[in-house]
Amino acid sequence: ETTKEHLNFQAEAKQLLKLMIHSLYSNKEIFLRELISNASDATDKLRFEGLTDAALYESDSDLKIQVNYDVDTRSITVTDNGIGMSRQEVIDHIGTIAKSGTREFFESLTGDQAKDAHLIGQFGVGFYSAFIVADKVTINTRRAGLTSEHGVRWESSGEGDYSLETIHKETRGTEIILHLREGEDDLLNGMRLRNIIRKYSDHITLPILMKKEEWSDEDKKNKIIDEDETINQASALWARPKNEISVEQYHEFYKHVAHDFEPPLTYVHARVEGRQEYTQLLYIPSRAPFDLFDREHRHGIKLYVQRVFIMDDAEKLMPNYLRFVRGVIDSNSLPLNVSREILQESKDIEAIRAGSIKKVLGMIEDLAKGESDEEKDKFSTFYREFGQVLKEGVGEDFTNRDRIARLLRFVTTASESDEPGVSLEDYIGRMKEGQEKIYFITADTLRAAKSSPHLEVFRKKGIEVLLLADRVDEWLVSHLTEFDSKQLQSVAKGGLDLGNLEDEAEKEEQKKEANEYQELVERMKKTLEGKVKDVRVTLRLTESPACLVADTYDMGGNLERLLKQAGQ
Ligand code: ADP
Ligand code: MG
Repeated sequence: ETTKEHLNFQAEAKQLLKLMIHSLYSNKEIFLRELISNASDATDKLRFEGLTDAALYESDSDLKIQVNYDVDTRSITVTDNGIGMSRQEVIDHIGTIAKSGTREFFESLTGDQAKDAHLIGQFGVGFYSAFIVADKVTINTRRAGLTSEHGVRWESSGEGDYSLETIHKETRGTEIILHLREGEDDLLNGMRLRNIIRKYSDHITLPILMKKEEWSDEDKKNKIIDEDETINQASALWARPKNEISVEQYHEFYKHVAHDFEPPLTYVHARVEGRQEYTQLLYIPSRAPFDLFDREHRHGIKLYVQRVFIMDDAEKLMPNYLRFVRGVIDSNSLPLNVSREILQESKDIEAIRAGSIKKVLGMIEDLAKGESDEEKDKFSTFYREFGQVLKEGVGEDFTNRDRIARLLRFVTTASESDEPGVSLEDYIGRMKEGQEKIYFITADTLRAAKSSPHLEVFRKKGIEVLLLADRVDEWLVSHLTEFDSKQLQSVAKGGLDLGNLEDEAEKEEQKKEANEYQELVERMKKTLEGKVKDVRVTLRLTESPACLVADTYDMGGNLERLLKQAGQ
C-alpha cells in the first residue's frame, strides 16, 4: 500500500517556472539536453560511488541513457541507470527549484525578455526546462543500493505543488516521463528527437539509445521496432583530435559540464606529454555565477583517468582564485582508483595543477593582448566578471604573482571612465621623470577615492595614482608590494616622501613653514592628545586645510574601516 503526499514548492518557484517557460520557449528543444545532461551526471555519480562500493552496480554495469517516445500517450521518456534518488534526495533536489541566490536573481530581472532569458539560463533551470514542453512530468526513481520497494514517484504539473509516493521499482536509476502540452506533437518524431540529440548531446560519453524505426508500407509510416541504436558518438570529446571538433560541439560540451545555458567566453584544449600525461579542456564562462563569492561555491573541474570519470568538483586541480574555470582534466598517469584522499597528497596532481594554472593564465593573456576587437571585448567581459577573483591570486599564488599582476587593470586619476583599463605596465610607461614608485589610494568607493585630499599634490604635479575601491584591493596591495622593481606606495600613509619629485625649493619651503607654525602645531597636538599620534605641517594639500594620514607601518584608514565592518 502506498500513500500519496502533496507538497508545495517554495514561494518563488511558481513565478520562476512561469518566467522560464515564457522566456525559453523559442529554444524549447533544450529540455532534452538538460534531461540527458542530468542522466549523464547521475551515471558519473554512480561511477564515483561505485569506486568504493561496487555493489551499487547491482550486476548491471552497462551504463546508458534511453530516449523513447509514444504517440498514443503523447509522451517522451528519458531513462538512465545512474545513481537514482532517494525520497529525501527527490525533495531536496527536485522539490527545491530556488537555489542560493534566488532573491538576487529576481532583483536582477529587467522585464526585457531577451535579457531575462540570459539571466534565467545563467541561474540554471536544468530539470525544470521539462515544463517548457510538458504540462505534467512524472519521475520514477530508485537510488542505487536501496531495495526495489524504495522507489519514489514524483509528479507535478509545475503549478506550485507536487506529489510524492513510494513505488516498487526493479531497476535502479531514474525515468522521467514528459506528458506533452497541447501543440507540442512535433516532438513525437524519431527524426526530430535524433536531430536534437545529435545537436546538443553528441559529446555525452555514454551511449544515448533510441528504438530503431522502419518504414511500414502497410501503415504508410515509420514503425518503431524493438531494437536499440546509439544516436550519439559516445566518445570523450576531449580525446578526439581538435580538428574534428566543431566550435558548436565545444560549446555544447561546455554547457553540460558547466551547467550553463550560454556559450563560454573562451576555452583551451591541449594534450600534455612528458612525465605527466594528461589532456585538459578548460573553459572560462561568459558570466560569473551567482555564488562566485560563496564559500560553498563548487569548483568546476571534472577529473577523468583514462577516459573514466573519477570525480566532480576536484578542487585540488584549480586554485581558489581560478574557481570560475570549468572543464575536464583527463590523466593517463594517475591510478584508476584515485580517491579524494590520495589527491590531497599527490605530487602528480601538483604537477597537473601547475600545468593547468599556466594554461588558464595563458588563455587570459591571449584575451588581454586583444589583437582583434572581439578579443578586446572578451577581455573586458572577463575582467568585469572575474577581475576581482583574479586579484585574489596575487596573495594566493606566489609562483605566478607577477603574471597575475600583469593581467590586472585599474582605474587611475588619468582614466576617462570608471572601467578598469590601466595595466601596471601602462602606468610605469607613463611615470614622470624622477618618479620611482607606483602610487595608489584605497577607498570604499571610486568617488571617495577620487575626491580624497591626499590626491591634491599628485594632481598638482601631474602624477598618476591608482584608485583602488574593490573590496579585495586592500588584500591586493598588502601582497603586491612591488611590480617590475617599482614599489607600490599608498598616498595616504606616512610622511609622504616624493623623493626626486620634490624640488629643493619645496623642501626649503616645507622647513620654513614647519618653523613658522610650530606653535600652532604644538597647541593642536595638546588638544588632540590621545586621538592622533602626531600633527605635521604638509605641502601635500593644495585645497583642503587638513587630512588624516596613517603611519607608514599602521593600517590604512580604509582597511581599518573594513575590519571594523567585519567586526574585528
Ligand atoms: P543541476 O544539474 O545543475 O544540478 P538540475 O535542475 O538539472 O540542476 O537538476 C537538479 C538536481 O536533481 C541534480 O543536481 C540531481 O541531484 C537531481 N537529478 C536530476 N536528474 C537526475 C537523474 N536523472 N538522476 C539522479 N538525480 C537527478
Ligand atoms: Mg542539470
